Amino acid sequence: VTSLLSRIEAVVGDDGVRVDADVLERHSVDWSRTAAQRPAAVIRPASSDQVAGVLALCRSAAQPIVVQGGLSGVCGAATPRRGEFALTLERMSAIEAVDTDGLLVVAEAGAILQRVQEAAAAAGLLFPLDLGARGSCTVGGNIATNAGGNRVIRYGTMRNLVLGLEVVLADGSVVPARQRILKDATGYDLKQWFIGAEGTLGVVTRATLRVEPRPQSANSALLAVPDFDAVRTVLSSLRRELVGGPSAFEVMWADYWQSVAATRARLGLSLDGAHAYFVLVEHEGFDDALDSERFAAALGRLVERGAIADAVVAQSARERDAFWQVRDAVADVLSAMRHPVTFDVGLAAAGMPRFLERLQRAFEARLPGTRAVHVAHLGDGTLHILADAVELAREHEVADVVYATVAELGASVSTEHGIGMLKRDYLRHSRSAAELAMMRGLKSLLDPSGILGRGRILSDPA
Ligand SMILES: Cc1cc2nc3c(=O)[nH]c(=O)nc-3n(C[C@H](O)[C@H](O)[C@H](O)COP(=O)(O)OP(=O)(O)OC[C@H]3O[C@@H](n4cnc5c(N)ncnc54)[C@H](O)[C@@H]3O)c2cc1C
Repeated sequence: VTSLLSRIEAVVGDDGVRVDADVLERHSVDWSRTAAQRPAAVIRPASSDQVAGVLALCRSAAQPIVVQGGLSGVCGAATPRRGEFALTLERMSAIEAVDTDGLLVVAEAGAILQRVQEAAAAAGLLFPLDLGARGSCTVGGNIATNAGGNRVIRYGTMRNLVLGLEVVLADGSVVPARQRILKDATGYDLKQWFIGAEGTLGVVTRATLRVEPRPQSANSALLAVPDFDAVRTVLSSLRRELVGGPSAFEVMWADYWQSVAATRARLGLSLDGAHAYFVLVEHEGFDDALDSERFAAALGRLVERGAIADAVVAQSARERDAFWQVRDAVADVLSAMRHPVTFDVGLAAAGMPRFLERLQRAFEARLPGTRAVHVAHLGDGTLHILADAVELAREHEVADVVYATVAELGASVSTEHGIGMLKRDYLRHSRSAAELAMMRGLKSLLDPSGILGRGRILSDPA
């Protein structure tokens, strides 16, 4: 390892290889805080050519690598395994171009999501991807996990927001990002292989991202809704009545709402807790006066129909921000739990109540005392379950129960967090044997020595 590291140092410079204990510790686990393991070294390349040089050296030494972005992932994909080098993109964070005519942004993969959003905003543009970890997650991590988040209902997941990718393959070759326009009919869409691949097929080093003209109006409301049918009615009505549809539709179950009582009290939010569901709905548009009028009128009609029991419409950016603080308090809710386990189960909105009833019964039968709270990005079929296991040793049993219910009802094991190591054994519930065989084929084509993200998504080769 020492001689390999000195050869790597010749590629990335003195500051590009770190083995000090505090640095290794910082790179030892992702946000799941599960199975922490210090990497054998942290490698910090500063350019795509340096990434290529590092991979070529590691490949010839059969040295395994895990790629790391902002370590905000929650499925253990970026957590090192014993003996792995952590390859971090933290020195590759430049936002290289913001093109208002072409509606694109070019960024290095280590760029923090929030910086990309801000660079776009400064040019009158919107980079629509948005999630609670915006201040720490990176473009590369967002691509590698096909991140979703708050605005998928209007703009799609990361997969829809990438025009072109520069990728360094395990053998050290660089595949450049040429695509800069929306349409492409030149054969296989190779970039899609790397989106959602969790760093197992190549290292994303640069991306050309789609942006939109920045909306000029934003209307947000917090709604109290009496039952789940009413939640669906609200969504389908607003999809028809608001131009372009809602840009966010976040559903919070009463159990979640109660668990963020302290945050709400601090923010002075006035809806009381005696309702079954709370919805944060947002619409963005281009005509301030007309959009506000339409938004208020659409909500008014839903109140008349009894689909909305109570509503507060944000009167200022500060109030809108307060609504989001309540929705983004997921991290606080998890931190307050003794043994938190999170899920991003995928299923159609209509099936969510039945799914949760079954799950509740399964918890009562197998793991009495398990507490869970729920939030959903309803429009895109993501149901987040934030569960608190009764004891640490039983966290995996909580996962067993959730994924048994997923299998029973034909749901998906992940819509946005990915598979990593924590959900690997459950992937078969969502993917057929034929699909898993294709995935293995792709992995052995692009990374025959298996040095990249070994054991993530797919189990270790026999
Ligand atoms: C509070 C909170 C809220 C969240 N909300 C959401 C949400 O709403 N929606 C959502 O989708 N996710 C959410 N997440 C999960 C997480 O933020 C995303 O998965 C994010 O995309 C991970 O980015 P990262 O840079 O932190 O990646 P990391 O955690 O560092 O890595 C994640 C995966 O990407 C790979 N990777 C990283 N960079 C590269 C690269 N350059 N090339 C190849 N592979 C790479 C890693 O190997 C690993 O497999 C949330 C997390 C937190 C903590």
